[in-house]
Amino acid sequence: MGFNIKKNDTVLVVTGKEKGKKGRVLSVMPSKDKLLIERVNIIKKHMKPNKKYTQGGIIEKESPLHRSNVMLMCPRCGKPARISNMAFEDGKKSRVCKKCKEAIDQ
Ligand SMILES: [Zn+2]
Repeated sequence: MGFNIKKNDTVLVVTGKEKGKKGRVLSVMPSKDKLLIERVNIIKKHMKPNKKYTQGGIIEKESPLHRSNVMLMCPRCGKPARISNMAFEDGKKSRVCKKCKEAIDQ
C-alpha cells in the first residue's frame, strides 16, 4: 500500500488517545510511517530547567503519530475516507476518495 497522506492534508485521528481530533499535516516522515499533525499529540517539554528556580519554560510541541492512526479527511465530501491512487488519461495522477469517487488533487 502506498503512502497517500501528504503535507497540508487534513486528517482525522481514528485511534489512540487523540482519537477524534482533526488537524493539518505539518510534515510526513515516510521512512518512519509517521505524521506530524498540527495541534495533535502535543507533548510538553521542559526547556533548560534552572537549578535555583523555574527559569526554564515549558514548551508544547507536536509529537508524530503513526499513519495507521489517522484517516484522510476528503476535501470533497468532508468525510474520513479511504483513498486510492488513480492515473488519468491525460497523464495526471490524483488520489481519489473511495467514498465520493472525486479526485482530491488538482
Ligand atoms: Zn470524498
